[in-house]
Amino acid sequence: MDVRVGVRVEGVVQGVGFRPFVHGLATGLGLSGLVGNDAGGVFIEVEGDPDEVGRFLDGLRTRPPRLALVERVTTRELDAVGRGGFAIVGSDASGERRALVSWDAATCDDCLREMRDPGDRRHRYPFINCTGCGPRFTIVTGVPYDRPNTTMAGFAMCGPCAAEYGDPADRRFHAQPVCCPACGPSLALRPHADVPLEAARTMLAQGGVLAVKGLGGYHLAARAADAGAVAALRSRKHREAKPFAVMVPDLEAARGLCELSEAEEDLLTGPRRPIVLARRRPDAALADAVAPGNGSVGLMLPYTPLHHLLVTEPTVLTSGNVSDEPIAYRDEDAVERLAGIADAFLLHDRPIHTRTDDSVMRTFRGRPLPVRRSRGYAPEPIPVPVGRPVLACGAELKNTFCLTRDGRAFVSHHIGDLENHETLRAFEEGIGHFRRLFGIAPELIAYDPHPEYLSTKYALDQDLPGIAVQHHHAHIASCLADNGATGPVIGVAFDGTGYGTDGTLWGGEFLVADLRGFERAGHLEPVPLPGGAAAIREPWRMAAAYGVPDDLPVARRPGWAAVTAMARHGVNAPPTSSMGRLFDAVAAVLGVRDRVDYEGQAAIELEQCADPAETGVYPATLSGTAGFTVPGGEIVDAVVSDLRAGVPVPVIAARFHNGVAALVVDAASRIRSETGIGTVALSGGVFQNMLLLDRAVSGLTDAGFDVLTHHRVPPNDGGISLGQAAVATARG
Ligand SMILES: [Zn+2]
Ligand SMILES: [Zn+2]
Repeated sequence: MDVRVGVRVEGVVQGVGFRPFVHGLATGLGLSGLVGNDAGGVFIEVEGDPDEVGRFLDGLRTRPPRLALVERVTTRELDAVGRGGFAIVGSDASGERRALVSWDAATCDDCLREMRDPGDRRHRYPFINCTGCGPRFTIVTGVPYDRPNTTMAGFAMCGPCAAEYGDPADRRFHAQPVCCPACGPSLALRPHADVPLEAARTMLAQGGVLAVKGLGGYHLAARAADAGAVAALRSRKHREAKPFAVMVPDLEAARGLCELSEAEEDLLTGPRRPIVLARRRPDAALADAVAPGNGSVGLMLPYTPLHHLLVTEPTVLTSGNVSDEPIAYRDEDAVERLAGIADAFLLHDRPIHTRTDDSVMRTFRGRPLPVRRSRGYAPEPIPVPVGRPVLACGAELKNTFCLTRDGRAFVSHHIGDLENHETLRAFEEGIGHFRRLFGIAPELIAYDPHPEYLSTKYALDQDLPGIAVQHHHAHIASCLADNGATGPVIGVAFDGTGYGTDGTLWGGEFLVADLRGFERAGHLEPVPLPGGAAAIREPWRMAAAYGVPDDLPVARRPGWAAVTAMARHGVNAPPTSSMGRLFDAVAAVLGVRDRVDYEGQAAIELEQCADPAETGVYPATLSGTAGFTVPGGEIVDAVVSDLRAGVPVPVIAARFHNGVAALVVDAASRIRSETGIGTVALSGGVFQNMLLLDRAVSGLTDAGFDVLTHHRVPPNDGGISLGQAAVATARG
């Protein structure tokens, strides 16, 4: 006997080809009924054989369209009304808006095929897209998500485009950015060229620096094999050493530059198209200035039609900014700010509404490990426990914010370092945009208790009940939420610095934590941070702080005696238990790096110089009972002693990493013996160190622990807002 079932599908299900998909699925199974959009997502009624209806429901969950995210499928029984056809019905726009905007997706294979087909009306059209690909989050200006509320509003569809848009059987049915050469955006080159794309390609081939308007902002491009072009880009951009990302035309070209694992290839070729950090081949045809002193390279594949047309060989594609400013995304601003860097500008007239940087990912044991979660990921929600709606303001550096509602956390795109007016404005505007887009009126505001963070000051200015979430607790909560866990866990939070509950700078923390609260079970023994922020830029100061002997090479630099005295007397030298600073001290002692041009540089170079075959360990003894401390000084002493004995630096660097991993296992074992907790969460920026992460996870697993690491948000401060939101929701 036939049954009729009402189905509701929630998630990212509008503007992604969901209704044509449902139509095809139902008719393929011989079912009748209807499908439509409403404020809550997609509603469906299907009628037919019960087994086929079961297959239909299964297909909804397991085979949705490329950009869809099916979060919830709920069903109810209806009275059968008799068989008929299957209809796509008009949208019901009443009620509350809960349907979600998709992330921006790389050009799909169908669109690429059309773009390369000389007979197609979109042949070589740089803005081709469909329901399965193209701009979404970066062009949305408001709700509901339809064309007037995108930056395509100014482009009236031509007849053929309107016909595709209105045809339920067409793969551009209700694709909001649909367009063609007759009705859509177009390219322009400054200085003017009649054929902008060809002129831009020629310019790149001849060694020029080109500013290119992308999906979420401007890039600066140069031929990656051209030492002169890359060096010019670096000097004009005032960027000394921080690596540039490279866009390659296809996977073959990527394999020519890097040794790629299967997981890395999947990430590179998937629809999200992040920059993937991978191991560089020794013979890679890249100018040295692309990633100086760095064994890995950030690669990405083209993700817009324009990239496919423009990039025919490995090309540096770095953010369009000077130094550490936010990337430019508005045309006039870009032309003004990048004038001293770019020889020419490849522009187009589709506005970017939300500045969105490229995402950066690594892989760890076959799974993604985010370094920066932005374009291609935001604003996809991450599940959190259901609670009152929260606005979490994030950290100061690598800021993201997060809004929650109905068990979903919307972590923002990468905002950046909140240290200038423009990023602060992007932060405030972004919060307003997300509130409107997802219809969220926060009832609680979560923030870092650091009194100097601009995000904290913003939070305290809002007229909402506030919840302060300690920085390292937020890291561990972020790792819990990332894994859909609630704790309790043994939380190991290693980073540069975060504000502790005692007002000192923490950063080498062993916590017992769940989403609601934490106890500081142990920590790295504090040392002075001589000169405060100066010690972060100059790792040699940390060698002085750890009191290494004056006859080592690191002590020969000017200022050593003064900084040593500063550390000894605690003048302008606040105490810190930072693990990041211990890495700095060791990098400086070993002569790997004593000044940094970008955050984490010393630790990155220390990791890269370590000999992975070395298994020796520098032991550290945990001391104290209630609240143990880990003597970082013992490890530094072991480093110094091996250095004096003539042990090669790569061996010492490896023993140091192994030692830190071993102390993670020791500390976790001690906490387990006291609490019975057998799960460890690893978070904080230091766990972007893959050698440390690998050794720590192996050691913990061998010791019988379950280990949680990051997969959806970064272990660095980009993940803090999710952790704050999870804690505030739990405390609600
Ligand atoms: Zn497409
Ligand atoms: Zn058209």
